[in-house]
Amino acid sequence: MANELIQIDKKAIWEQILSKAHPLIDRGHLLTIFVNSAILSYQEGVLVIGFASIIGPDYVKEKYHHKIFPIIKEILLDLNEIQYEMKSSLVDAEYPDKLSIDVFMNVIGTQRKQRKVPNKQEVVLEGGMRSKILNKRYTLQNFIPGSENRLVHAACMAVGAKPAGIYNPLYVYGGVGLGKTHLLQATGHEILKNFPEKRVVYMTAEHFINKIVEAIGKKHTKPFKDEYRNLDCLIVDDIQFFANKATSEQEFFHTFNDLYDNGKQIILSADRPPRELEGFDDRLKSRFGMGMLIEVSKPSFETRLAILKAKCAEYQVMIDPEVVEFIAFNVTHSVREMIGVLVTAIGEAQLENATPTIRTVAQVIRKLCRDQEVGSIDFKEEQKRVARSLDDVIDIVARYFGLTKSELIGADRKKEIMMPRQISMYLIREILNQSYEAIGETFGGRNHTTVMHACNKVISQIKDDQNLSRDINALKKELGF
Ligand code: ADP
Ligand code: MG
Repeated sequence: MANELIQIDKKAIWEQILSKAHPLIDRGHLLTIFVNSAILSYQEGVLVIGFASIIGPDYVKEKYHHKIFPIIKEILLDLNEIQYEMKSSLVDAEYPDKLSIDVFMNVIGTQRKQRKVPNKQEVVLEGGMRSKILNKRYTLQNFIPGSENRLVHAACMAVGAKPAGIYNPLYVYGGVGLGKTHLLQATGHEILKNFPEKRVVYMTAEHFINKIVEAIGKKHTKPFKDEYRNLDCLIVDDIQFFANKATSEQEFFHTFNDLYDNGKQIILSADRPPRELEGFDDRLKSRFGMGMLIEVSKPSFETRLAILKAKCAEYQVMIDPEVVEFIAFNVTHSVREMIGVLVTAIGEAQLENATPTIRTVAQVIRKLCRDQEVGSIDFKEEQKRVARSLDDVIDIVARYFGLTKSELIGADRKKEIMMPRQISMYLIREILNQSYEAIGETFGGRNHTTVMHACNKVISQIKDDQNLSRDINALKKELGF
């Protein structure tokens, strides 16, 4: 019994265990936590299983220990105890005792899939105006309204159930990437689901403009007019693009009136409310305002988290909750960007058979910020705002102790700097509820254990050290807590 370590083939045993145990384990957990796991040792009845993921050991112990213990005992007859440990080197595909991804997928009963992450979506218009142009992925059921967008969601449901009722036209407005296109298309689906015979057309204002220009060029606008006016529901997205396009605007005005007068549903979206539309005929603006105007709002942290979780489920990937929270916390201005960060991080991680970590996600966000510098001012502003919340703590602590920001974040281990640094970490953890790993990233890529140590140190000293507790209270006040 002395040296079982040498006698067992850790890889083969792990394969045997997983092939028996996998039906008891959630698929998402298999693909994220167990994919980077291995037997670390087996000695004197004690089996040590390692996981690359931070949450792996605790999670498996709590959720699966009681299920897998009896199965493993059937294979390792003198098993007494299982210990679960984190071992970060297990992310490495070459880790000696780890199953290769193909063997692993085979064991759990699936072939290895191609990257299962969709590209950024763009609605494809299939060369005409048919109901089929709606993108199937957008439904009212998979839109997560949160408390912020409950009203707009309910209005869309109402239109779906009873088109051309009281919400006509339905005018949805708000910032980029907040779900307007999703809601518009989903409402179209809902109408078709309830009334399959109805003719529903979705198009962007740009597409409408192109069609008009084309028809005018061919000198016969009649078929164009007939086609549009023959609908039960016309959905036009991003109508701010009609601004200063007098001919298209005119044509749209007539179409709008025809449809409206004939009791047909019209659904519109724009980046702002009608009265703020510039370069528009006043008559048109007042028409837009005749029905229901609703704003789509930025989702709260909780809603963003719910959206990300739903996306993970859709893509069938399980990601550390901490990582998901990190994304939700840091990308606040656009759901599209937020999903983009998730998708990019999953995609990049999958190339290395891993799952996203705070570090890789932080890299994606940083890169996005850099890319956006030329493109979207909005995003930059938002990033600044988000950074400010972390920066606020660092700024205020630095000022309080008469240090510079870079001293505070830097590597200097002098006591006069170490203590304020530890205090900032503690405050960020406590006030902003950031994970140790995320704080480590903010402080120049420090290890999460360093941060944990710093926070614990402050917590343990605060009780006995009156000066420290006074400092912390003063700082909390300055930070508005
Ligand atoms: P907009 O048209 O306002 O620019 P989109 O409708 O294109 O925004 O939304 C961007 C992405 O975010 C889409 O993939 C959409 O499905 C998703 N999305 C936005 N809000 C939500 C939400 N509340 N629930 C689920 N997905 C959402
Ligand atoms: Mg849109």
